[in-house]
Amino acid sequence: MKFLVADLERQAIDFDESLAPASIDFVDDMRQVGVLHTAGRVDLLKEHRGTHEIVEDIRIRGTLDTRMEVACARCLEPVSQPIDASFDLIFRPAGADLDNSDRAISTSETEIGYYEGDGLLLEDVLREQILLALPAKNLCREDCKGLCPECGRNRNTDPCDCAAASTNPRWNQLKALQPQLVRSQDKP
Ligand SMILES: [Zn+2]
Ligand SMILES: [Zn+2]
Repeated sequence: MKFLVADLERQAIDFDESLAPASIDFVDDMRQVGVLHTAGRVDLLKEHRGTHEIVEDIRIRGTLDTRMEVACARCLEPVSQPIDASFDLIFRPAGADLDNSDRAISTSETEIGYYEGDGLLLEDVLREQILLALPAKNLCREDCKGLCPECGRNRNTDPCDCAAASTNPRWNQLKALQPQLVRSQDKP
């Protein structure tokens, strides 16, 4: 769905959309698995710059909720992640700020983005807001044991003997010699 400046010049647009799973493209290790419901309002803000120039900013306010599936940061298994976010964003025409050294951004409480061409694509806004709403680190569970660094098995479901082997005396000697290295490996 695209909001065109030409339409917004006549009136604000209210939207209320339900997008089927996978309507929005993401990179390989995450996907939209739930219906995405979004609703809100789009309108045009005219910024008067100097005596002649008018910049037409698009403001979009709304909410979104959906369910994403992302890879666990430790074991790479899919993790289901509900998303529930609200946003209030301003988009300027691309290039409108290229020559501004002294123009202050007046709307400090909102975030500024840029739109290309004749309008703003709703999907682009939603994709960005979903990425922002996702936790920085997704874990399938708090105590996920992750993949074994030795054999690569998932230690949650497929325990291996590598840890036991590493407690033999020779390994302990090695550990004592290389405390820095071992510590850094222990980090998730
Ligand atoms: Zn995990
Ligand atoms: Zn192992």
